[in-house]
Amino acid sequence: MSPFTFKNLSDQVENYDGQYRDDVVDGSYFGFPIEAVLNAETRLTSSTTPSVAYFSMEYGLAPSIYNTFNLTHPMSEKNQFFKHEVFSNNWMCDYLFKVQIDKMLDIPIYGGGLGVLAGDTIKSAADLGVSFVGIGILWNKGYFKQNFWYKHGQVPEELQWDPWSYPGLVPLKNIVTIDTKEGPLALRLWKYYVYSHDKKSSCPLILLDSNLPQNPPHFQKLTDQLYRSDNVWWKIFQRALLGIGGMRALQSLGYSIDCYHLNEGHAACAILEKYVSLADKSEMESFKDKFVFTCHTPVEAGHDRFNISDMAKVLNHEYIEAAEKFGKATPDSQQINFTIIALNNCRKANAVAQKHGEVMRYQFPKYADKIGAITNGIHSHTWMSESFAKLFDQYRQEIGDWRQDPENLVNITKLKKDENFRRDIFNAHQVNKKNLIEFVRHWQLRDDVFTLGWARRIAGYKRPALIFHNIKEIINLAHDIGPMQIILAGKAHPNDDIGAAHIDDILDHIDELNEHKHLIKVLILENYDTFFGKLLTNSVDVWLNNPLPPFEASGTSGMKAIINGVLQVSTLDGWVVEAENDDIGWIFGYQHSGGDIGTEKDLRLEEDSSALYHTLKSVMTMYYQTLQAGHLNVNSPWIDKMIHCVERSAFFNTQRMVKEYRDQMWHLKG
Ligand SMILES: *Cc1c(COP(=O)(O)O)cnc(C)c1O
Repeated sequence: MSPFTFKNLSDQVENYDGQYRDDVVDGSYFGFPIEAVLNAETRLTSSTTPSVAYFSMEYGLAPSIYNTFNLTHPMSEKNQFFKHEVFSNNWMCDYLFKVQIDKMLDIPIYGGGLGVLAGDTIKSAADLGVSFVGIGILWNKGYFKQNFWYKHGQVPEELQWDPWSYPGLVPLKNIVTIDTKEGPLALRLWKYYVYSHDKKSSCPLILLDSNLPQNPPHFQKLTDQLYRSDNVWWKIFQRALLGIGGMRALQSLGYSIDCYHLNEGHAACAILEKYVSLADKSEMESFKDKFVFTCHTPVEAGHDRFNISDMAKVLNHEYIEAAEKFGKATPDSQQINFTIIALNNCRKANAVAQKHGEVMRYQFPKYADKIGAITNGIHSHTWMSESFAKLFDQYRQEIGDWRQDPENLVNITKLKKDENFRRDIFNAHQVNKKNLIEFVRHWQLRDDVFTLGWARRIAGYKRPALIFHNIKEIINLAHDIGPMQIILAGKAHPNDDIGAAHIDDILDHIDELNEHKHLIKVLILENYDTFFGKLLTNSVDVWLNNPLPPFEASGTSGMKAIINGVLQVSTLDGWVVEAENDDIGWIFGYQHSGGDIGTEKDLRLEEDSSALYHTLKSVMTMYYQTLQAGHLNVNSPWIDKMIHCVERSAFFNTQRMVKEYRDQMWHLKG
């Protein structure tokens, strides 16, 4: 194979001399060793190294908290983190203060858990030294910026950022074109490199961008906003762009790919593109061996489906023929189902937790044989707090090298009876809790008060306002057992009226608690993102996870919590089913069995909120028996649970997950 050189790299970059020659130099890529980049390119362009291309609509890379690149010149102000408002049951405080920190904006090309998983996947692929390339879209206006307005709830605002001065991101000269019913659509390729934790290897991420002067204005806007859904035209175009544009991008870069991994059905047009490109259609059978598919949704309505007539307004007839051939759920259907396209043409598909696997096989019995389950994870290096990393290093002798292999965290069990360790793990948690308290210092939280967190995408089945369902009960709890602090965050999709109504609901409840602020403090933070995701999952005492079973395919925020010794209060759903017997916290509420998933309309708020209050009574009682007037009871079962959490996090990480992808899905030869 001919090695990929620095000259090859700089020749690829658009406006290299004008913009990038100080940051991308021979030896260094934005401050990181460039060897890793050149090696990755050499392997991807070689036909003898087996390589994976992973397609995903979104990527949450969190570079502000992990592997932050350097920039020689000042970054555009647009790429700085902005001010955040806090809405609490202490109005005066909200009125006077905002939260602001000096950090860069995370590359805003994700909306939620699906994207964070894709980001963590590519990081673990780099850690494991897999020859791997991510394909995604450069969302020029991100997802959206969230504002809470008094008496108005969530008010979405367009996000502005500047890809041309974002550290680690470079535009390429490569332009690919896809043919559409409305004429050619040109796409610029951008590159971002995701480095391994030891910076010895990396994986490129290719981002497609339609914001080019040669495109008509309505085409330029196609890559504006992630999950723009005001009409079906946008949705189909964005999917065509990812699948078809992605396949063409791989070709344009000369990458030799052995496995195409579609993260969710969004990318199913990659299969159509492959089929359309074949002169001899009978070759498709052998290409099916190269596609694998990860499905994230347990809900029937969650699968992408489009009317054939709508798709025909966007794509040329050969694509429509392919879509009709592969994507009809029944022969007389007038719709194309993207999940069916993927299932018909992949060698293997996976659900994202074991429970989700059962549900998925029930929904698609015809494909049950190829549907397996590989449980999601999180990237340990991204989500572990500094204080826990320090603690695990300190006890390296017992735990082993958790950096190379996070699965070694299972060895923490050896320390369960070690009083010093028990004290140290609790203190490491207190360091994180103080960090959170400092962050919102004007609201005067306390580190000896029971603190509960809930933060995720605001969606109906996640029941964001469950804890407030019966305000009197929560007040009684705080009154009878001890004070509490509740911290929340989350965005509702701008077109999701039900989600927005949930936010209104939470804001109203916060108002109701205004008179009780001496017993219960409630804060909701604007603009939930990976930075807040890490801050909150690391630092609260208990992470609340209350989706309606079985609608949470996996969920990952709780995994970010357990690696930091944060206990779970959860319904039995998603990944939690696989930790049910591991004593990582408390399980409550409705339990689902069988295949039929029931309806999301019946949220069971009454019965499950009462189960939650009942459970919280035990949780808070144990908390205040563990930490009383500043005195720590080191023998408390609370600390056992903290240790069990970390022990179980040895499994719920993307290093283990990517190994399972490699062994069960990718079948890389060579
Ligand atoms: C981890 C994370 C999610 C996913 O959380 P779930 O528990 O799976 O809902 C969503 N958004 C952000 C910003 C995250 O960091």
